[in-house]
Amino acid sequence: MFDIEIKHFCPICGCYEPENQFSIGEICPCCGNEIGCDDDIEKPNINQEQYFQMIQISIDSYENGKEVPNHVKQFLENAKYSEDEAWEILRNKWIEKGCPWKYNFKGERPENWGIELAKLQLLNIGIKLDAINCVHFRQD
Ligand SMILES: [Zn+2]
Repeated sequence: MFDIEIKHFCPICGCYEPENQFSIGEICPCCGNEIGCDDDIEKPNINQEQYFQMIQISIDSYENGKEVPNHVKQFLENAKYSEDEAWEILRNKWIEKGCPWKYNFKGERPENWGIELAKLQLLNIGIKLDAINCVHFRQD
């Protein structure tokens, strides 16, 4: 889906990027998350032994030119949070920290960055942030 969909907004913090940069491997200057990496989150209650067995089966299948068995595919899919779930987890973490603007290499950070701008930015992706969630907001 990343290949065809043009993402102007970070799916985590709603940061606007005019150059379509929110695809795999890109780091959001605002929330600092790398799409396709930081949002690759394993569920906490997964049986690790079984998980690595399943990974081994899928590697063996690839190496032998065979189709990965469906139950293995399904297990591995269920072992991770979906994109939407992972984005929500990362977004909540970012909000808990007070929506800090992480990187400013190219002067991306708006001078007056603060909770009000963060709230507006989140509206880009349809998230309405209650001020109560952001009591710890810091400028740095
Ligand atoms: Zn972001």
